[in-house]
Amino acid sequence: MPTLSEMSDAERAQFRTEAETAYAELQQAGLKLDLTRGKPAASQLDLSNALLELPGGKGIADDGTDTRNYGGQLGLLELRAIFAELLGVEVDQLIAQDNASLALMHDLVVQGILYGFGGNPPWAGQKVKFLCPVPGYDRHFAICEHLGIEMVPVELGPHGPDLDQVRELAADPSVKGLWAVPMYANPSGAIYDEATTRALVEMPAAPDFRIFWDNAYAFHHLTADEHPPLDVLGMAAAAGNPDRVLIFASTSKITFAGAGVSFLASSKANLTEYLSHVAVRSIGPDKVNHLRHAQFFGDAEGVRTLMRQHRDQLAPKFALVDEILTRRLRPVGVGEWEAPEGGYFINLAVPDGTATRVVELAKAAGVALTPAGAAYPYRKDPRDRHIRIAPSFPQLPELEQAIEGLATCVLLAASER
Ligand code: PMP
Repeated sequence: MPTLSEMSDAERAQFRTEAETAYAELQQAGLKLDLTRGKPAASQLDLSNALLELPGGKGIADDGTDTRNYGGQLGLLELRAIFAELLGVEVDQLIAQDNASLALMHDLVVQGILYGFGGNPPWAGQKVKFLCPVPGYDRHFAICEHLGIEMVPVELGPHGPDLDQVRELAADPSVKGLWAVPMYANPSGAIYDEATTRALVEMPAAPDFRIFWDNAYAFHHLTADEHPPLDVLGMAAAAGNPDRVLIFASTSKITFAGAGVSFLASSKANLTEYLSHVAVRSIGPDKVNHLRHAQFFGDAEGVRTLMRQHRDQLAPKFALVDEILTRRLRPVGVGEWEAPEGGYFINLAVPDGTATRVVELAKAAGVALTPAGAAYPYRKDPRDRHIRIAPSFPQLPELEQAIEGLATCVLLAASER
């Protein structure tokens, strides 16, 4: 079969007719499927149901902390120890907080605006820019947009952002932040390599420049190759920029997405500064939740074992998406995607100028997709080509229907050009 770009006019016309027929059939199927967000499936949440019975007993932690009471701003030591080991940081570099790491990121950006970092003036009243590797996570961009921070897109490759671009931009003192999802980036699956990471912590930048190192998928491997997290705090300290990096993680996609525990790891100076603000806002995090998580995991190996159970459920879904896209799109040379090694997403690049149309067609056929452009600051995908596929939530039969339907829409949109 010739690819779309190789087809004669007659072959193209035929291809379009077939695509229209397939789409009409799809519409008649009356689907109602949702691939919009990377939510764990109910069967994944079931893996952690033992949490619903914990903590048993009196809620007293190993170190004697009464988790039912106020206090303990740093979070419960026994849970911090587990995640410090997993993230490769010292226990005193890591605190455990409430259920959403996104809230920590939001609060840290607000801290920069209201109080400033490290004795530098608050960002309020200054022009402030954040570097946004693209495609990226829409909720990071929403924080910036909501708080009036200008976003500057930079190209994200398979091993991290384009360093020439980043270095040049970071030399501007109004650049105060960079969003990074270093492991299995949302949505491209990129994995930041050591050289890129080292360059990011070494490059000249404003003293209050912070890298928001969102390691949301640090343990979410889809293959047996369980990449260990890089020692980014150690690298930053060695480079003489110990306060540059704020590491975020959570158990949202380990236990319960709505009722997990978030973590912040950073230099002691950054943590002390953060806690000085947090102490005004709350008399302590939910330590009962910390305790039940610590009991449920037991140790770091308990987390790794659980993540392998998630992998057993997720890997077949990712394989199915890859199989369908390969079978439907590859023969006609439409679409580009990488099979990610972890995380929750597949980034499908469709022919330029067709992503919005694909999402519209899918919606009209009952398949809800993340809006086109969502992975770009201000929702502006300059080539209108990225579609984020989130295969985790549906079970295999629904996922199959949704991706077959998506492929039909991609082919129709491509044939219309
Ligand atoms: N960061 C990234 C990159 C994510 O994809 C997500 C969830 N979609 C989050 C953070 C949200 O994490 P939390 O539930 O801890 O707020």
